[in-house]
Parts: sequence; C-alpha cells; structure tokens
Amino acid sequence: MRISDHIHSNEYPASYYAATCNDTAGFSALSGDETFDVCIIGGGFSGVATALHLSERGFKVCVVEQNKIGWGATGRNGGHIIGGYAYSMWENKSKIDSFGEAGTKALWDMSIECVDIIKNWVEKYNIDCDLEFGFIDVAMKKSELEWLKKSADTLADRNYPYETKILNKEELSDYVVSDQYIGGRTNDGWGQAHVLNLVLGEARAAEKLGATIYEHAEVSDIIHGARPRVVTKTGTITADFVVVTGNGYLGNLVPKLASRVLPAGSYIIATEPLSDEQIAATAPKGWPTCDQRWALDYFRVTNDKRLLFGGMATYSGRHPKNIKAVLEPKLHKVFPILKDVKIDYEWGGYMGIGLNRIPMLGRLSDNVYFATGYGGHGVAPTHMSAKLISEAIAGQAERYDIVASVKHMPFPGGRHLMQPAYAVGMAYYKLRDAIGW
Ligand SMILES: Cc1cc2nc3c(=O)[nH]c(=O)nc-3n(C[C@H](O)[C@H](O)[C@H](O)COP(=O)(O)OP(=O)(O)OC[C@H]3O[C@@H](n4cnc5c(N)ncnc54)[C@H](O)[C@@H]3O)c2cc1C
Repeated sequence: MRISDHIHSNEYPASYYAATCNDTAGFSALSGDETFDVCIIGGGFSGVATALHLSERGFKVCVVEQNKIGWGATGRNGGHIIGGYAYSMWENKSKIDSFGEAGTKALWDMSIECVDIIKNWVEKYNIDCDLEFGFIDVAMKKSELEWLKKSADTLADRNYPYETKILNKEELSDYVVSDQYIGGRTNDGWGQAHVLNLVLGEARAAEKLGATIYEHAEVSDIIHGARPRVVTKTGTITADFVVVTGNGYLGNLVPKLASRVLPAGSYIIATEPLSDEQIAATAPKGWPTCDQRWALDYFRVTNDKRLLFGGMATYSGRHPKNIKAVLEPKLHKVFPILKDVKIDYEWGGYMGIGLNRIPMLGRLSDNVYFATGYGGHGVAPTHMSAKLISEAIAGQAERYDIVASVKHMPFPGGRHLMQPAYAVGMAYYKLRDAIGW
C-alpha cells in the first residue's frame, strides 16, 4: 500500500531520525525472478530482525520493502525500548492464567529476552544507535502510583533482574521536573535508542551474513503453494517460506490481517538542542518517560540533547494538519520552562493495533507466517516475534506455539468500520483521562 499524505511519501519523513541517520547508502533493487529459503515482506523491526535471526541460523533470506528500510513505524517512533513481550497480557489476567504456569513463565522470560536481543546485537554487530538504559513511568494521580507499585511488586515476585524504584514527588525531581506528576517508577532494564540507526545497523548485519535487502519493491500479491511466490512490479521471489510483517502499512494485501490490525496515527515533535540548564530543569537524566493515560504523553532526551515529545493518537485515518500546533501546548503543559524553545522536527506514522493489544503472530498457510499488531510498544517485542518465527521455521515451534495460540478477533464491522468504531472507543478513554475518572 503506497500511501501519499502529508506525513507519508516514498522517502523517509522529515524526522529527527532521518536528519541524523548514519547510513544513507541504501540497499538493493529487485529485478527479475529470484529464489530464497525465506522471503520477508516489510523492512521494519519485525522484518529486519526476522532476517537477522534467520541469517544467524544459516538461512538464505531476503527482505522486500516497499519504500526504505525503517520507513514505517520503526524509523518514526519514540525510541523507547520497553520490555514486556507479554506485558500487555499481565493486564489481561484471565489470558495469562489460560497459559498455565509453564506458559506464563515462558512469556515472562520473553518479556526480558526481547530487550536482550537488541542489547546483544548492538554489542555483537557494533551498531551505532545511541543505545542507553534507564526508563521511568510517571503517575499523575494516586491510583496510577498505586498501579505502578503493584506492578513493581509483580516484577519483584518474578525475580525481575533489573532495579526498579518507586519514587515520591520529591525523589522524582532527580529524573523529571514537572508539576504534572506526583511520583513514578524507574526501570533500569528498559531504555532508548536512535531507532532508524538501529534497524539500519541490523539490516547491514543481516546483509553481512548473506541476506539480500530489497528497497522500493512493493509486494502486490502472495501466491500460496508448496513454494509460495511473492510478486512485485519489478520481479518475483520464490521461497520455501514467506513472512509477512507489513503491520500498520500492509493495507489489504492480506484481508485476514486487514480486519484485525487498525493503523492508528501517532505523532512526535523534536526541539532544538537544549542547554544543560534546560535539561537539568526538565528531564535531568534524559530517560525515556511515559505517563499512564490511554492517550499518553511520552518523551526522552536524544544524544544531541533534543527533547523528543510524543503525545497524541488518531484512529480515523486523518492526521492533524499541523502536528506542532497540537503537540507544542502539551509539551508546554509538562515543561512550561520550554515555552520559547524552537521545534526543529515534527512527524508521525502508523502503528498497528489489535483488539486485545497482544502481539499477533501465526500462519496464513503452512509456509506463510505473519507478525504484527504491537500497538505503541513494538520496538522490543518485534525482536521477540521475529525470533519465535525464526525458531518455528528452523523446526523448533514450542515457544512460537505459545504465542500463536492467542486468538485475535477481527474488529467489529471489519476493515471499513474499524476506524470509526475504534475512534468512538478511544474518545471514551480520552474523556476518562480528561476528567480523571
Ligand atoms: C509515532 C510512533 C511512536 C511510537 N513510539 C514507540 C516507542 O517509543 N516504543 C515502542 O516500543 N514502540 C513505539 N511505537 C510502535 C513501534 O514503532 C512499532 O510497533 C514497530 O516499529 C513495528 O515494527 P514493524 O516492523 O512491525 O512495522 P513497521 O515498522 O511499520 O514496518 C512495516 C514495513 O512494511 C512495509 N510494507 C508494508 N506493506 C508492504 C508491501 N506490500 N510490500 C513491501 N513492503 C511493505 C512498510 O513500508 C514498512 O516499512 C511507535 C509507533 C509510532 C508510529
């Protein structure tokens, strides 16, 4: 699905990430008919990480990306590395219980492993992507702080290996200086990165291990069969396995996924570089920070000292005309001291949201897999889904089966009604946020 609107073209958006990208050389063009062990559709974290996992296992793989590597949500997001592959499942206690103790333990371990995959690859392949650890969840009201305490207890009960601390308002000021928050919870196991440089580094690592990465190759059809075929305008690929990872950008290529994954817009602004005094007066440690509302604010300080601030979501398919005009007032509410700071970049993108907010993976046919639907928490979980699919392709499907067993219902009303229906649902949650219910 080629999209052309004021936040999407065939090139990278005018984002902080694109402006500071350290690899602009590009990848291959597809022409003619090629054969691979595995063909992966989509060049975001899901696709590139699947390619790297499989290349490490010795498979001959290719990635087919309609625009550029990291062009989708992967190269546009907040850069918060949030663990918890199964984290959203913790909120869904009955779902977790249905896995039994062994399944729950496996999901819990994946919640930590998804971050470890990134950490290990950055080290192993020497990827220059400003990876740092330290994360903070902030609370605006007592009930949110209570919830953070409760979840810290769950982490402790499960022997979470990284330090977490509950902070009162005074302690919080070492991390975030804003009268919007009454406390928070730190997490040394989560972190941040320059996500476009991370995905490009992973793509180069896969390439060095023999993978072929095709850009500007939009897949228009998947022909299922003993050896599925992937069709683009400039060539075809025949493979033993296909993995579909287009997420919020897949359009109607796979109708079963189109009715289950809602492309929801999310938007970010980046300030000019801040002075040390401005950083000390706002986010002294620069850690990625999220509040606890449905329509949350999130921010972090980049390596070059900009505040990256995200804070709205759209479900109607329409983007705000002026992203800066919508986000700047939110930034100023959290940090009034930044009211005269210039905004250098504004951009947005689509995340893929499923009805139960649990990552989706599975098979469309015996040899065609998919991974999608991470909502706004995909940076680390994509790496886990990719690993599970690579294990399944290599013949070890135990862990894959646990996650693939989760049922994902289509949105009521299907593809055409999903956006208005979800918009109404989210308006309800935004109202709850607004009145503090
Ligand atoms: C503004 C924003 C902020 C976010 N912030 C965070 C955050 O801070 N932390 C976090 O964990 N998550 C965040 N997310 C979510 C996270 O970015 C995603 O969950 C994750 O990047 C999904 O990766 P993906 O590879 O599955 O999908 P994508 O990165 O969207 O990649 C899909 C790719 O498939 C390609 N494609 C689609 N159809 C075709 C086709 N027919 N042929 C060829 N190629 C095709 C697309 O061009 C695209 O490049 C955010 C998302 C957005 C939009």
